[in-house]
Amino acid sequence: MTALKVTCLDCGQVNRVPEAKLSQGPKCGTCGARLIDGKPHEIDLRTLEKAAKTDDLPLVVDFWAPWCGPCRMMAPQYATAAGQLEGRARLVKLNTEDHPQAGARYGIRGIPMLAAFKGGREAARQAGAMPAPQIVDWVTRAV
Ligand SMILES: [Zn+2]
Repeated sequence: MTALKVTCLDCGQVNRVPEAKLSQGPKCGTCGARLIDGKPHEIDLRTLEKAAKTDDLPLVVDFWAPWCGPCRMMAPQYATAAGQLEGRARLVKLNTEDHPQAGARYGIRGIPMLAAFKGGREAARQAGAMPAPQIVDWVTRAV
């Protein structure tokens, strides 16, 4: 059975999850947090770098900031997309105001910006706010 490496977004522990269990609410072996719950978790830069490099399950990041109107407008759309993509990709958020180093680290010129990571590298990026169906579409094609 194939096991996928999935980084816990709460404690940073890398878990191995059998593919068949991706949709059964797998939990972190270290802290017990749900690894996959269809919700867009807010993470820090360290966790993002680790998960982007390590995870076999595709990871999508929304780089946003509280002062950014289009970012706030997209938030509920992004949450809907996260639910629809549960088990296929994990959608997370990174607050660029709390983590200003992210801008240089990922070469971000404007927000909102989505980046999709797969197999340890960035597979695609997309600038600008999108409605939920378009986010789902974009992620499906990217990863
Ligand atoms: Zn954990």
